[in-house]
Amino acid sequence: MPSWIQWTHHSEGKTHCDECLKLDGCWFLESKSPTWPHHPFCHCTLDPIDYAVVLMDATTYSEYSKFDPYLFDPDNVYKHGKNRAFESWGYTVTDARWLQAEIEKQALEKYIAGDYTLGKLNEHGQRINIRVTIPRKDGTSEVSFMAGWMVKSNGKLKLNTPYGGK
Ligand SMILES: [Zn+2]
Repeated sequence: MPSWIQWTHHSEGKTHCDECLKLDGCWFLESKSPTWPHHPFCHCTLDPIDYAVVLMDATTYSEYSKFDPYLFDPDNVYKHGKNRAFESWGYTVTDARWLQAEIEKQALEKYIAGDYTLGKLNEHGQRINIRVTIPRKDGTSEVSFMAGWMVKSNGKLKLNTPYGGK
């Protein structure tokens, strides 16, 4: 059974580290946890959680607007060019709902399998990257890319960016 921990922040005195407050209640595979202790006099603890709870309670969610209009950029407002990769694979904005559901599903499977990499941690929280694999629309091969997530408390991942790079 993989070892999972919950990062728990304990208030001691008046000073609170913004990063530790964001980590409070977040779940990580023990070997892929942010560095602990996080700073001198960090009062946080890493508390073991039952893997059955991780399997049962972990969730992923995303806002549809991350896909339409942001990712597919149908009105060419954002001009980030991220839509070009998906269009070259045969996907258009009409696939936004499918892609959203697929990214959420794969991210959940990989998160509970511990198949993620830690990204940047700052006062907004701990980011993790998860690789997503989808078929080209014509079925000739598969392509993959990294989706970026923010770790929230109690096993929740919230999508930051559907396409964070290759
Ligand atoms: Zn701390």
